Amino acid sequence: CGIVGYLGHRAAYPIIINGLRRLEYRGYDSAGVVIIENNEFGLVKTKGKVSDLEEKSESINNAASIGVGHTRWATHGVPNDVNSHPHLSNNEQLVIVHNGIIENYEAIKTELGQKGFVFHSDTDTEVLINLIQYFKDKDALSLTDAVRYALNEVHGAYAIAVLDKSNANEIVVGRLGSPLAIGIGENEFFIASDASPFLQFTKDAVYLDDGEMATITLGKDVDIRKIQDNLQV
Ligand code: GLU
Repeated sequence: CGIVGYLGHRAAYPIIINGLRRLEYRGYDSAGVVIIENNEFGLVKTKGKVSDLEEKSESINNAASIGVGHTRWATHGVPNDVNSHPHLSNNEQLVIVHNGIIENYEAIKTELGQKGFVFHSDTDTEVLINLIQYFKDKDALSLTDAVRYALNEVHGAYAIAVLDKSNANEIVVGRLGSPLAIGIGENEFFIASDASPFLQFTKDAVYLDDGEMATITLGKDVDIRKIQDNLQV
């Protein structure tokens, strides 16, 4: 299982695919990728290998310069195309890739269901992205704050990356118990489960500590904070 992402000025898709290949040693049963182009997601995911993902990815715009990819090791829901990551929120505004387990996902799924949310997969991950959407819409929060509020509600282990299709300049990441590295280049950023996918591009890497999240915005310094800081509920 692994996560790879890119935000910058190069084509994101080949960097993500090559990065997923470097993470194949971690083991996986499915793979997926999402990019943002003209305020829309281009999303492809499949049970199988990274090579299967590539074969299905003709629809992905190779010019897009933001995106994330994922290899899944199924914990909640069988390995199939629908349960593969990335997962969209109900309004298809937000997307997530996740490694790890959300232990209390069933209780949250029930609560969100009572608020009208529907679920297309059997994953714990789809519950988390809808919880993020719920907080974002309820209080008109920034993506960073919505992710922070949601992560304060979940127990388990995770490395996540979240994108909003209306903002092609930003990736929000967080970690607890699963690794996540951020590579910092010249006006470009990389994320990955370990540094191997981006070592050829930059040696400048930050490793998130457990309980930390980061907002990665083009043209700004990486903004790292503790998930539990300054929470006003
Ligand atoms: N728990 C998530 C799932 O089953 C993520 C698994 C992983 O770490 O790849 O989809």
